[in-house]
Amino acid sequence: MNQLVDVIETYDDLLARPSFHASLPFHPKSDRRFGSVVAPYRFLDKIHCGIEACHTPHFSGYLITTSDGRETAIGSHCGRKYFGASFEKEKRRIDDEVRRQRRIKQVRSMLDDMSAQLVLVEALERDYRDLREKKDRLMGAIGIGLFSVLKLRADRGQIDIEKEVPMTNEEAESFFETSNRKRTDGKGWPTKSVFVARIDGMEFLSARFKDMLVTSLITPMRELSKLTTVDIETMKPRDLTRTAKWVGEVPRSVERAQAIVKAGHDFFRSENIEKLVHLGTPLSTLTPMINDLRDEERSAVA
Ligand SMILES: [Zn+2]
Repeated sequence: MNQLVDVIETYDDLLARPSFHASLPFHPKSDRRFGSVVAPYRFLDKIHCGIEACHTPHFSGYLITTSDGRETAIGSHCGRKYFGASFEKEKRRIDDEVRRQRRIKQVRSMLDDMSAQLVLVEALERDYRDLREKKDRLMGAIGIGLFSVLKLRADRGQIDIEKEVPMTNEEAESFFETSNRKRTDGKGWPTKSVFVARIDGMEFLSARFKDMLVTSLITPMRELSKLTTVDIETMKPRDLTRTAKWVGEVPRSVERAQAIVKAGHDFFRSENIEKLVHLGTPLSTLTPMINDLRDEERSAVA
């Protein structure tokens, strides 16, 4: 198990360390050489580099040890300039370790909050099953052909259903005046689109619903819930990185999943499904579903 990297938040944290020196001479001015990197730091005010020959002010750098067991704080560029590859290698080791610890902390915080997360996951699972079942039922009722038409409209963001009606005399008059069409061109009486209905919740149909709920939230959350703190601390670097990244995205993923669930509920409302008759579905094929949705809506209110 790797050792925890010390957390240094203020310059006082450095001063409080018994071996710390604000400035030290190094080789070739003295026999003193670089030892190892202890920890990174980043302050709000600049401090002077601890290499006596440098003293360049900097905001962020590394606490290092020396060959004679002392400590000082140096800028990152100075480390490379004065100590070369041995510093760079140490810096990478500590940077990796700091990142690893930050990821462990992030994943553990999700594990600590798991009971609340599982309540959320269970609610999403219920919604998923409910909406999945309704989607299958609708597909069965209207047929795959019309369902594809509906899906295509959703993908294109065409939420309004329109129909073509003949123009009035006045409308046709100005149409002929402003286009290259003529009343006598034999192409027929001009038409115009009029709004018929807006279908709510179409985002539900265009979203990758299963991916959003099951693949990216429910399944990984259940997997994570089975892990112990030790499992997390001993995770392979790549798994830890991936898990921490996923944890960081959970709030946004939940938000998106909930928005799609809401769209799904908006879509599967009785009066919304009724509008599908305007796309050519006979009302009779929709009636059983509409009736069930209505019952559901009534019992939800009651
Ligand atoms: Zn320096």
